[in-house]
Amino acid sequence: MNRQILTLSMLIITATLATSCGTQKEETEFQYNDERFADLQMLRYRVEGFDELSLRQKTLIYYLSEAALSGRDILWDQNGRYNLRIRKMLETIYTDYTGDRESEDFKQFVIYLKRVWFSNGIHHHYGSEKFQPGFSEDFLRAALKYIDAAKLPFDTEELFPVIFDPSVMPKRTNQADGQDLVLTSAGNYYGPGVTQQEAEDFYLRMKEADPDPAHPIMFGMNSRLVKENGVLTEKVWRSGGLYGQAIDRIIYWLEKAKTVAESEKQVAVIDKLIEYYHTGDLRTFDAYSILWVEDTEGDVDFTNGFTESYGDPLGMKASWEGYANFKDKAATERTTKLSANAQWFEDHSPVDARFKKENCRGITAKVITAAILGGDLYPSTAIGINLPNSNWVRAEHGSKSVTIGNLTDAYNKAARGNGFQEEFVIDAPTRELINKYGDVCDDLHTDLHECLGHGSGKLLPGVDPDSLKAYGSAIEEARADLFGLYYIADPKLTELGLTPNADAYKSQYYTYLMNGLMTQLVRIEAGNTIEEAHMRNRALIAHWVLEHALSSADAATVPSASDEGSRPAVELIQCDGKTYVQINDYAALRHLFGELLAEIQRVKSEGDYEGARRLIETYAVKVDPELHAEVLARYKALDLAPYKGFINPEYIVTEDKDGHITDVQIRYGEAYDHQMLRYSQEYSTLPYINE
Ligand code: ZN
Repeated sequence: MNRQILTLSMLIITATLATSCGTQKEETEFQYNDERFADLQMLRYRVEGFDELSLRQKTLIYYLSEAALSGRDILWDQNGRYNLRIRKMLETIYTDYTGDRESEDFKQFVIYLKRVWFSNGIHHHYGSEKFQPGFSEDFLRAALKYIDAAKLPFDTEELFPVIFDPSVMPKRTNQADGQDLVLTSAGNYYGPGVTQQEAEDFYLRMKEADPDPAHPIMFGMNSRLVKENGVLTEKVWRSGGLYGQAIDRIIYWLEKAKTVAESEKQVAVIDKLIEYYHTGDLRTFDAYSILWVEDTEGDVDFTNGFTESYGDPLGMKASWEGYANFKDKAATERTTKLSANAQWFEDHSPVDARFKKENCRGITAKVITAAILGGDLYPSTAIGINLPNSNWVRAEHGSKSVTIGNLTDAYNKAARGNGFQEEFVIDAPTRELINKYGDVCDDLHTDLHECLGHGSGKLLPGVDPDSLKAYGSAIEEARADLFGLYYIADPKLTELGLTPNADAYKSQYYTYLMNGLMTQLVRIEAGNTIEEAHMRNRALIAHWVLEHALSSADAATVPSASDEGSRPAVELIQCDGKTYVQINDYAALRHLFGELLAEIQRVKSEGDYEGARRLIETYAVKVDPELHAEVLARYKALDLAPYKGFINPEYIVTEDKDGHITDVQIRYGEAYDHQMLRYSQEYSTLPYINE
């Protein structure tokens, strides 16, 4: 379970940081936002830096993209046994129907098809409930009469209850406690009639018979468990087995990728993956994972295979996904610079010397650029990925953790102009500041948090690392965030070339406080308190700073001559019945962040449970119900699509007369429906029925 998806929180941060970093011209050239339907917004991403790669690397990415797209049908079939047939039927009507294409029924039909494409099946990609069509059964039956029956070589009647009857296959992955999760889930990971008890017993016996329990394979990960003549048996997904036709296509492209791999190490990685696809042997898969995790030298990397188990109610069977990527050089340079100066940051922090590390080493975060998204990463995708999933491989060989920079960037850019800033940011000059520096400073704050913040400071000797108990993670996140907030305003960053000037950090201060005091509340239902650690951390910092700014201003009020002099560093003000964050003194704010950092580090270093409890319970949990209601109403009025997904770019290959690739170009702008129909044509690898 190692995926970081775009949660609503990121969406808020994202929206908050909507900026215009590039030139106006560039913006109009590239459209990050594409069409919107139902609860979905389609976006596009740029593969920044692709043109600077060598021809060999471009070719490698092209082959790996083909491999990533070739497994598409596998996921469709994993998501439900009727999905491939339903897709074929809907697409054929979409292209061939010559009835009234302006009718409400047809419009609803198109929305339904677009949703099915997005979800790789008939169940919602996120909630997993079956969505109901907005058109009638009669319409579908009539529409089928326009279609050449030879194009649909299966029983279409059988698909009607699957599409229309709400009681048939209502959930793809049922997690409701007390029900038979296997029997009641529509996902195709278990054959008809297999019960949860049978599945659990089957895998328990397998685990008990494991000859090497210290290095367990991921039992059941790459197979469907079925009952044949009353006997349970696994149908393994491999060449020559279930999904073999798709896997053979994947192998074909992996073989090609091998010929242009970046190193011998990478050749070995691909070889092992091919061997695993041939045999379906999970020990070979572990061997592959080890080779993959240890291959960190090259620029180009990929994931291709049965990976995440969110879709199996028992959390064993892995959905197929694939993507190709390459290192984001600029971002990696940024984190390398910070890491190289880790000791300087540690030495100059406002923390008590007793809590500082004598030998501080930063971590270099890997930021990558996605070149293609496939399988369970398309169109809805993760923005951070940490693999492999095998616990013992992670413990003994480590894992690769990446942030997908160009996707985060696309989310940010797409959020421009969605009205969020206009609604919540106090005035035009502040919006301007955020527009100019928001992106740069948001990335930088994340870097400071990850590369330096978490690694800074030390516990006093004898302090139990778990002494803060339930408050530990919110305190730890606050520590890392405060380290970032304190240093983002430091001239050292401008000196290192990481911030453009001495004002840029102000954008981060504003959006951070606006989020912590107000806008993150849109994720919380009216009447509830704040529970999640990152949200508590932000609330803690924002409310502590607000309160201390107000009290220090009060103290200064009496002798102050001017009105200006008595204003707190930050305050919440009312304007036309709406609440806004107003920052009056950014330098004083930095001082407050430093003070809180010193206190939080003390709490952590001393293992002061009572101190942690007091901070969290006072500042991080409670929600002002009036402000909460106001924020919820203002957000709702913006009517933003809650889910987003990406349209892929296309890779256009030029070959010489001997079939050697002489150029790979990237092309953007393909329409959503065009891409989906093209994929169904070019990457249709499986039969309509896979038993
Ligand atoms: Zn963190």
